[in-house]
Amino acid sequence: MLARSTTQCQTDAPAGDLWRSELTTAFTQVEPLLAFLGLAREHVADLDPTPGPFPLLVPRGFAALMRPGDAHDPLLRQVLPLATERIARDGCRDDPVGDTAATCAPGLLRKYAGRALLMVHGGCAVHCRYCFRRHFSYSGLGHYGARIATAVAAIRADTTLTEVILSGGDPLLLSDDSLRALLAQLAAIPHVRRLRLHSRLPVVLASRITPRLGDLLGALHPRPVLVIHANHARELGVAVQAGLRALGGHGVTLLNQSVLLRGVNDSADALAQLSERLIDCGVLPYYLHQLDLVQGAAHFAVPDRTARDLLAALRARLPGYLVPRLVREVQGESCKRPLA
Ligand SMILES: *Cc1c(COP(=O)(O)O)cnc(C)c1O
Ligand code: SF4
Repeated sequence: MLARSTTQCQTDAPAGDLWRSELTTAFTQVEPLLAFLGLAREHVADLDPTPGPFPLLVPRGFAALMRPGDAHDPLLRQVLPLATERIARDGCRDDPVGDTAATCAPGLLRKYAGRALLMVHGGCAVHCRYCFRRHFSYSGLGHYGARIATAVAAIRADTTLTEVILSGGDPLLLSDDSLRALLAQLAAIPHVRRLRLHSRLPVVLASRITPRLGDLLGALHPRPVLVIHANHARELGVAVQAGLRALGGHGVTLLNQSVLLRGVNDSADALAQLSERLIDCGVLPYYLHQLDLVQGAAHFAVPDRTARDLLAALRARLPGYLVPRLVREVQGESCKRPLA
């Protein structure tokens, strides 16, 4: 498991950290996950029981939020490998958003004014089948220490940067000590005024939100922005809600980004319920992304017209602050392109 996270993780966390043991017991095979849900292979049309280089990975806590016996469960659909992923599609690419072209140091991407995105960890706690980085070779980034030192030096040298985004993979897979050291280095750079983390762990591995992590993030000045990633209201169970509320209590600004996914959240009801559940957890909707056309994910695509109609329906029934910005990432543009 965690095939892509090999060398980078510093294992200096206290022994017995619950989230680490939960990672080691995550589902990595299709059959045991289906058995856990009371499903047989025949219940799932087009199943790929042995996906290749992007294997199944699902923490048990996330699987526990799925509806037993339902092959169309929106949480299950996000993680279940299908044979259609293997069919090469016109217009789909391995690097759909031009990450290679935007790289200014290993793992450091510079696309938008004032902001740099640093890929600090190659692993994830879950493998989302629609992920635009599913073909990215994190192992090519090199050794953690040397790479991060180079990236931090590049950020220090560029006084036009005012914000650094820690991303991945998932930056919260770093140990608390590695994370604290990195954030302290970045916070000490005078022109870096904001620190942001993009992480799916608060949703798929709620045990990662420990009091220690809350203290760590709450001690930063200014307080960081944490952008979580949930696509469906049912991903936000009671454990997730408790973790998010705790982080909010530490002064962390909480936002959510979602991907619009066919068969998962492509209805006004699903999107409205997600926004309302998010605010219950102290999180504001930020982006609703149109799918990046990565090879293997075409079956999740929702037409732009449908997407705009869904946004109009949301606007008609929710307060403005609960309506996410519908965007698509287009290579070479100066911001994520608004679609609605
Ligand atoms: C999405 C993204 C950002 C952040 O964009 P915001 O609109 O500020 O959320 C920054 N850098 C890269 C490379 C990105 O892909
Ligand atoms: S969408 Fe995020 S959490 Fe999911 S596989 Fe991609 S990087 Fe990992």
